Amino acid sequence: MDRISVLDHGYVQLVESWGSDERIIEAARMSTQKGFEGWGVEETCAKCGGSGTNEPENGPGSLCKVCRGRRLAVNVPGDEKLLRYLWANKHHTPFEMAGFTIEVQAPIFVFREWHRHRTQSYNEASARYAPLPDLHYMPTVERCLMGGGHLTKQAGAHGGKQLLGPSAEIWLARLSSLYEMSESVYAEGIEIGVPKEIARCAMLVSRCTKMRASANLRNWLGFLALRAEPHAQWEIQQYAWTVHGILKELFPRTVALFDEGRSK
Ligand SMILES: Cc1cc2nc3c(=O)[nH]c(=O)nc-3n(C[C@H](O)[C@H](O)[C@H](O)COP(=O)(O)OP(=O)(O)OC[C@H]3O[C@@H](n4cnc5c(N)ncnc54)[C@H](O)[C@@H]3O)c2cc1C
Repeated sequence: MDRISVLDHGYVQLVESWGSDERIIEAARMSTQKGFEGWGVEETCAKCGGSGTNEPENGPGSLCKVCRGRRLAVNVPGDEKLLRYLWANKHHTPFEMAGFTIEVQAPIFVFREWHRHRTQSYNEASARYAPLPDLHYMPTVERCLMGGGHLTKQAGAHGGKQLLGPSAEIWLARLSSLYEMSESVYAEGIEIGVPKEIARCAMLVSRCTKMRASANLRNWLGFLALRAEPHAQWEIQQYAWTVHGILKELFPRTVALFDEGRSK
């Protein structure tokens, strides 16, 4: 899979994945030794002819999602019924039988949030042994004007400073100068022989670094529940939604259940 760009210099790239929605069913069926039996058949609506869904609760007489007419075919519930049962009843260990590893490039401050998810596995580029590239996250004026999350974005309304576009532009220009200064102090340190592990004292939390992160599906969904949601900082949300997109491609049925649970 190609790198998926995130923010101005970041990316997420799938390294490898394992398991599937079917493997989750197989793992759950270890108790009965039956394995994966198949997903349910598609339904056809008698009124509009549109294809129905595989939702197991849509039995005989259920209404078409498109025209609200009666379905012609009786949906034969398949293993999606078991998948739904496992998810809804928090029988989550079968969801640990799948997962993926990704490579991520992001600002250091995003990694500080990300690494709080202790049950993922990480390997990060070490600025002790190799210099980090001269890449800094540069927010846009619009991003500055978005505010800072549910606790702080109302600052203007409560007597705090209300940021305006021209002030943001001036501040961003100063930030850009600081990035240049940071890079020049860092590069100069390395040039004159300051150890890289000390030269990195000149780095800012906006500097981009790289890591590999690996986790099982259950764990990734836990990450998304906290980071692909509006209370999370906007920058990590961008990464979380990218992870969501990859997960959706690999494990469409599980992610549909996860999304359904969150939209209620
Ligand atoms: C919107 C938002 C704001 C936040 N603000 C702050 C903040 O201001 N300051 C701050 O320090 N952090 C903050 N965090 C980080 C937050 O407190 C968690 O550290 C982070 O979300 C990781 O969650 P987690 O512990 O569930 O994940 P993981 O570490 O991946 O753990 C997954 C699950 O494993 C179990 N687990 C793991 N380790 C332990 C353990 N030691 N003991 C018991 N059970 C364990 C728990 O069930 C846990 O839910 C914030 C997070 C979010 C999403």
